[in-house]
Amino acid sequence: MRQLLLAFTFVALPLATAITLAQGPSQSGLQLDALDRTADPCIDFYQFACGVWIAKNPVPADRSTWGRFDELQERNNDTLRAILEKAAADTPRGGGAPRASENDQKKIGDHYGSCMDEAAINSKGTTPLRPLVSKIDRLSSAADLAPLVAELHTIGVNVFFSFGSIADFKDASVEMAIADQGGMGLPDRDYYLRDDPKSVEIRKEYVEHIGRIAKLVGASADSVTTIPDTVMTIETALAKGALDNVSRRDPNKIYHKLTPTELQALTPNFQWSRYFTGIGAPPIYALNVTEPDFFKSLGQLLVSTPIASIKHYLKWQLIHESAPMLPTAFVDENFKFYGAVLTGAKELRPRWKRCVQYTDSDLGEELGKAFVEETFSPQAKADTLKMVHEVEAALEKDIHELSWMTDATKKEALVKLHAVADKIGYPDRWRDYSALTIVRGDALGNSQRANTFEFHRQLNKIGKPVDKSQWSMTPPTVNAYYNPLENNINFPAGILQPPFYSAKADRAVNFGGSGAVIGHELTHGFDDQGRQFDARGNLKDWWTAADGKAFVDRAQCFVDEYSQFTAVDEVKVNGKLTLGENVADNGGLRLSLMAYLATSASEAGKTDIVKDGFTPEQRVFLGWGQVWCENRRPEALRLMAQTNPHSPGRYRVNGVVSNMPEFQKAFSCKADAPMVRQTQCRVW
Ligand SMILES: [Zn+2]
Repeated sequence: MRQLLLAFTFVALPLATAITLAQGPSQSGLQLDALDRTADPCIDFYQFACGVWIAKNPVPADRSTWGRFDELQERNNDTLRAILEKAAADTPRGGGAPRASENDQKKIGDHYGSCMDEAAINSKGTTPLRPLVSKIDRLSSAADLAPLVAELHTIGVNVFFSFGSIADFKDASVEMAIADQGGMGLPDRDYYLRDDPKSVEIRKEYVEHIGRIAKLVGASADSVTTIPDTVMTIETALAKGALDNVSRRDPNKIYHKLTPTELQALTPNFQWSRYFTGIGAPPIYALNVTEPDFFKSLGQLLVSTPIASIKHYLKWQLIHESAPMLPTAFVDENFKFYGAVLTGAKELRPRWKRCVQYTDSDLGEELGKAFVEETFSPQAKADTLKMVHEVEAALEKDIHELSWMTDATKKEALVKLHAVADKIGYPDRWRDYSALTIVRGDALGNSQRANTFEFHRQLNKIGKPVDKSQWSMTPPTVNAYYNPLENNINFPAGILQPPFYSAKADRAVNFGGSGAVIGHELTHGFDDQGRQFDARGNLKDWWTAADGKAFVDRAQCFVDEYSQFTAVDEVKVNGKLTLGENVADNGGLRLSLMAYLATSASEAGKTDIVKDGFTPEQRVFLGWGQVWCENRRPEALRLMAQTNPHSPGRYRVNGVVSNMPEFQKAFSCKADAPMVRQTQCRVW
C-alpha cells in the first residue's frame, strides 16, 4: 500500500568509473554543466535542464538506468561499503565450525562477509537446499500442501500467494492478517496475458530460463523440457485469477474482510488451519483476503493440477528465490533473464554492490544506524523538518483558496492535513535484531533466517495496535513514501542529500529538490488513492458527492495528458496507473514553489538576486528539472511503463511545468509555446 516516490532497484556501476556529484563552480547549487543552453526552456525544458548531463552520462554496462537518483544511491553505497568492510574485517572468519554473531555490528559484518565469500558458496553447491527439495519430493497429495507452503513462506519463498500483516483498512488502528495474490515469477500478471510480439518473446525467454535453471540442478533431459511448460501453466493460471495493477489502485477492490472459514470455502483442498499452524500465526479471527476471486481460482488450480506438476512449481520457486545466494552459475543465469532480458543491462554488477544491497535489505536498520551517524547531522534533520512545515503551510493555504472544493470538504481536508505525521531521516526507535541469528560462512542460511525474522515480525503484529513509528524503508534509501493507512510522510536520510538537499545550496534549489519531494509525498494523502482514506487512515469517504466528482473530473485531465506520452516504441505511459504519482508531482512542485515564495519574500521576484544567471523562481524549476536527469535502456522503459506507477523523468518534468502558469511567467514563454499546455491540468 505504500506509495513510493521511486522504486529503484540497485544496479550499480563499477567504482573506478563512478561519477562524483561535483557541484561545479555554481553559486546556487545547480549543476550548470548539465544544462543544454542551446535548447529553449519554453520548447523543451527537460532538454534545457538536463541535455548535457544526458549526453555525457550513458547508462553503465551493469545498469538498466542511470540518473541523478542513481548517482546519489551510488555515493550512499560507497559509505555503506566502508562501514561493512570494516565490520567484516573486525570479525574475520575463524577456522572450524561457523559461529553465530552475538552483537549487531558483528551481525552486519558477518552477513556481508558471508555474501562476499563466493568460493564458500560455490563449494557448497545446492547442498543447502537438499532437505527442502526432499520434502517437496515426498509430497503425496495436494491435501498435504499447506504445511509445506507454510515452510516455504517462512523462509521467503512466496509460492501461490503472499501472506502477512497490514492495518485494517476500515479500522486502521489495528493490524490484521492479509492474504494477497502472488506466486508468479514474471514482474506482473499482465506479462502472462499480453499477446503483443515483445511480450510473447519475453515469455519465451522466461521459459528457456526456467529450463536452464532446471538443467543446473541436474534435472533429467526429459524434465528439462517439461518443467518450464508446467511452471508456465501454473503461473499463467495464477495470473488469470489475479487483478491488474490499475484495478489494484482502488483500495475497495483489495479489501475483503473474511473469516478463516469463509477463506477455507474458496480453496476447499488447501487446509488453512494447517497453514496458520505451520507459520506460527497468532489466533486469526478475520483477515483481508484482498481478492477472493484470486483465491477461488487458486482453489480450482489446486484441485485440477497433478501433484507432480505442483512439485515442479514449488522447486522452481525455491531455487529461483535462492538464486542470489547460490553458486556463480545460478547468479549468472538469473542475471541473464532478470537483468539482461527484462531490464537491458549488459553485465552483472560487482559482487560487493549486490552484497551491500542484500545486507541493507536484511539488516537495514542496523546498517542504517552507522549510515545516519556519518551522513545525516541533527542540523540537516532540523532544516528538513522546517521545510516540511513550510510546505504543509502552503498546502493549508492552497486548500483554503481552492475554487472547486466546498467548505464542508475543505474542513475535512484540513483535519487530515493537520493529522499528517512527519518522519524524517530514521526511526526514533531502532529495530531489535537480537532474535535473528547470522552465521559467518552461511550466506543462504542468513538470507533465509532474515526472511523468517521479517515474516515473524509481520505475523507478531496481527491483532495488535498499529505501531506508526516503524519504517518500511531503510535509512540509506534514496526514496520517500506516504502511508495512507497511517497518514504519515517518511523521508529516509538517504534522499536528504545533494542534489535534493544541501546546506550549501541556495533555498530556491533546495525547494525545487527536496521541497518538491516533500510536497509530492504530502499530496499523496490527497491523490486518487490517498483521498479515500481519512485523517486516521481509515478507508472512509469524507468528500461531498459534488466535490468527489470535481476531483475525478480534474484528475481525468492528468490521465488524458500523460496517456499521450510515449515511453518507448509502441508503449505509451499508462495515464491511469501513473495518476497518483502525476497528481503528486504536479501538486508537489506547486506547493514547494508556494512555500518558497512565502518564506523568501525578500528574495523572490527581485532581479538583483539572480544567481548563476537565473531568478529565484527559475532556480526552483531548474532544481526540480535536474533531479530527473536520466538515461534508461529501452527494455527498462518498457518494464517501467508496464509495471511502475511513476512516469519517466522527462514527463515528470515537462508534464508538470507545462501545467503551471508560474513556469510560463518565470521563463517568459509565449502563450503558444510547447511548455504552455492549452488545457492546463490542476488539482492542488
Ligand atoms: Zn509518489
